[in-house]
Amino acid sequence: MAELQLRNVRKSFGAFEVIKGVSMDIRAGEFMVFVGPSGCGKSTLLRLIAGLEEITGGTLSFDGQVVNQLTPSKRGIAMVFQSYALYPHMTVFENMSFGMQLAGKDKESCKKRVEAAAEMLQLTPYLKRLPRQLSGGQRQRVAIGRAIVRDPKVFLFDEPLSNLDAALRVATRIEIAKLHRSMHKTTMVYVTHDQVEAMTLADRICVLRDGVVEQIGTPLELYESPNSVFVAGFIGSPKMNFLSGALAAPYDAHTIGIRAEHLEIRAGDGKWSGTVVHSEMLGSDSYIYLDIGSAEPVIIREGGTSLHQPGEIVQISPVGDNIHRFDASGQALGR
Ligand code: ATP
Repeated sequence: MAELQLRNVRKSFGAFEVIKGVSMDIRAGEFMVFVGPSGCGKSTLLRLIAGLEEITGGTLSFDGQVVNQLTPSKRGIAMVFQSYALYPHMTVFENMSFGMQLAGKDKESCKKRVEAAAEMLQLTPYLKRLPRQLSGGQRQRVAIGRAIVRDPKVFLFDEPLSNLDAALRVATRIEIAKLHRSMHKTTMVYVTHDQVEAMTLADRICVLRDGVVEQIGTPLELYESPNSVFVAGFIGSPKMNFLSGALAAPYDAHTIGIRAEHLEIRAGDGKWSGTVVHSEMLGSDSYIYLDIGSAEPVIIREGGTSLHQPGEIVQISPVGDNIHRFDASGQALGR
């Protein structure tokens, strides 16, 4: 495993700067997840780490050695893509051993490593099949297996679960978490759009916005102490409720943010009154959408099944001290 250091890393495509000076340390053995809106530069940053794109400025080091000029194969990385990128005419075994054979590994040790990786990923029965004879989830496990056998110092994942259906996403997500543990915590960097993947897999999450780092922290740090409206709104589902104007003024803030689980409907007097505009029943929880006079409806999460009907007028209050305060520029104020 390796420690990665990014120092003022920049990347432009022509005159268009996509990565605008990113600095961070990714610790040896850490699982780092990059999230951010579409087009913010997550994949580009990952490809810079991989060496698939050339860095325009700044330095990238692995274990203290600058790798800006090293080709991908010299960096000791393995990358898993959304599209699997398997060779269609090769069997699972051949797909997994091909890279090692190219690198000149002897046949016997290739075989051993492929068998061990296949065992870990429950691919042993499929070693003789072609990719087209596998399900999407099995193909992605082959792509992960192919990366494992190379025994990389750093594992890079670019939205590896995006093409899988919901059940397979969950199963493969758990596989990846187990893999991180069983590989003695090989350093992993993972790009995703998916909140749950980010929250459950990451040791730390890096939120990117328009080519710069907005905040880096553990999933709970970002959830509980976002340093800006942007991070507060990006992390967590449903999205945090934001109130401004007179609704925020009693809290001495430009904007306040309250998560859906930190609001409750009261039988008696509440802080605000609102009209139910919609409710969604998820089985375990319900989301109740209320108009309380803010720009967008406020969402409240209630356990179980909601009995509130559209048109009903209710009283709501924040639960405890869970109010996030932000200034006019969107930066967090002390709580
Ligand atoms: P998404 O979540 O949609 O995959 P992303 O955050 O991964 O987005 P990138 O794929 O890194 O974003 O792209 C960042 C920006 O760089 C985008 O505006 C994209 O159009 C641009 N870009 C990426 N690759 C190239 C390229 N090879 N040439 C020109 N522009 C590029």
